[in-house]
Amino acid sequence: MQTKINTAQEAYGYWKATTLATRIEHVQRLKEVLRRNRLHYATLITQEMGKPITQSLAEVDKCGLLCDYYCANADAFLKPKTIKTEAYESFVTYEPLGVILGVMPWNFPFWQVFRFAIPTILAGNVVMVKHASNVPQSAASIEALFLEGDFPIGVYQNLHLSSDKIADVIAHPEIKAVSLTGSEAAGSAVAAQAGKYLKKSVLELGGSNAFIVCKDADLDKAVATAVNARMQNAGQSCIAAKRFLIQETVFEPFVEKYKTALSKLVCGDPMNTATQIGPLARIDLAEELEKQVKQSVAMGATVVCGGIRKDTFYEPTILTGVTPEMPVFREETFGPVAALLSFNTLSEAIALSNQSDFGLGVSVFTQDINHLKKRIGEFHEGAVFLNEMVKSDPRLPFGGIKKSGYGRELAEEGLKEFVNVKTVVIH
Ligand code: NDP
Repeated sequence: MQTKINTAQEAYGYWKATTLATRIEHVQRLKEVLRRNRLHYATLITQEMGKPITQSLAEVDKCGLLCDYYCANADAFLKPKTIKTEAYESFVTYEPLGVILGVMPWNFPFWQVFRFAIPTILAGNVVMVKHASNVPQSAASIEALFLEGDFPIGVYQNLHLSSDKIADVIAHPEIKAVSLTGSEAAGSAVAAQAGKYLKKSVLELGGSNAFIVCKDADLDKAVATAVNARMQNAGQSCIAAKRFLIQETVFEPFVEKYKTALSKLVCGDPMNTATQIGPLARIDLAEELEKQVKQSVAMGATVVCGGIRKDTFYEPTILTGVTPEMPVFREETFGPVAALLSFNTLSEAIALSNQSDFGLGVSVFTQDINHLKKRIGEFHEGAVFLNEMVKSDPRLPFGGIKKSGYGRELAEEGLKEFVNVKTVVIH
């Protein structure tokens, strides 16, 4: 570990002194390598964590879009900003911090790493990434990709370490900050250690997003979106819709249409381009999901469809009769399980949506956009999407509140998480 930190430190000495234009050229070269080998990287993702190959290809392509976005905008984001005061001159500059640690998950093995590493590196930092232990080849390939993209050795390093060694890395004086995407437990452990050593942390943790369908919504659009919002990546996404709140008068038609739509999903071999739902990434994740559903059923939930696990495959599932006490409502369900509840008034829906320890995002389907816009402030979330599922976009800040974490990734906010905002005043 010490050798790698020495390498990072040396690389930082060189990297922070390069111009932004040079850093952008490196990212552009890396993007070319990514584009040329997209099928190779997508295949790796699918083989390691079971995501259907079409979705792995989309993940790799999205990494390319992120590179394009930051190459086009980093200059504007990092430009010194003049602020008028009574001084002769006053402005702020955005300077790198040093070696930044990333602790990353397996559910989007490329995307999660890219959205942390690219802006952080463009700001002049260097990174070390501890990737999830079930995606070692993706982890090694990303490091190789940076080298193929001609980045100097040490700007991006893969830390092949078990999670119990991460506390020592955070404690190391050369590590200046840490960004983690993962579970509450991992986030809490990493943040506690960062806090102990007074280092900044950014946490992107779980979510249990509500998906609210009002009676005036375009029901077919809501159903079609609900399929993707819950079933993409076999439901293994922090921003997936997990709790479906449906206004009473459209509850039955929604259930019928949703059930029909789910029955058409092609489940099976993730390497087959027709497959829409593959296996879950690990057997323990499938067993945990099964336990959450079984406990909820024991507490009174009804299985409308699915509810069956075969090895790591979990059937697309709809549960009705869900109450806020049940695990499928209270906890994050990381798999293809939709928990449905009905509501009477919008105020009731907002209260149910907020009745969660998480606060990553919410979707609301309604025709009455003007009314909803007036009520955005009532949602305790990092994002509110109207007539669309919550999704990440390089141009928009991404992150949560409550137990979904703190700090932001993507957009200008994401790039500025790991910079020293330096105030300069000249009299
Ligand atoms: P973890 O949070 O355990 O894994 C995410 C990353 O954190 C991995 O790199 C992991 O390493 C690392 N990690 C775990 N514990 C620590 C620790 N104490 N100190 C430092 N690093 C640590 O997630 P799981 O894979 O176990 O998934 C469990 C649940 O977490 C899921 O069911 C889901 O609810 C949630 N999750 C949320 C994600 C999101 O996108 N927000 C992503 C992944 C999971 P290692 O793999 O070596 O343990």
